[in-house]
Amino acid sequence: MAYDKPIPRRGVHTQPFWEGAKNNQLMLPRCTDCNRVHWYPRHICPFCHSVNLEWIQASGEGTIHTYAVQHLAFGPWAEEAPYVTAYIDLKEGDRMLTVLRGVDPNKPEEIKVGAPVKVEFEQANEDTFIPFWRVVEGF
Ligand SMILES: [Zn+2]
Repeated sequence: MAYDKPIPRRGVHTQPFWEGAKNNQLMLPRCTDCNRVHWYPRHICPFCHSVNLEWIQASGEGTIHTYAVQHLAFGPWAEEAPYVTAYIDLKEGDRMLTVLRGVDPNKPEEIKVGAPVKVEFEQANEDTFIPFWRVVEGF
């Protein structure tokens, strides 16, 4: 099925993220002064306010920090409900909000905080790949 949701807008400062996504690589911004990774991309480090940032290729691994089952959705997501959203604790640090895949929204008791997840990318158009996270098989 073709991706039929809105395409995220890009800025110059997020270009490395989108270029990495095209190659199934999760790119994250990191401060070269305090060495902390942050998400979402910003012009300054949210921890020490340095403007000395770089992009690193992340592992694409994380764990579920928390989650919620969305029973009611609007617009282009209305037909997707119910689905599960989650905050992912990235292995490299900070958190990313996602639609969680590989889980049954009708069996939320089976979703475990702390469960390992891996990033995957879905092609939205010829130039845009959207990250999603999936629970690691067998967990
Ligand atoms: Zn910093």
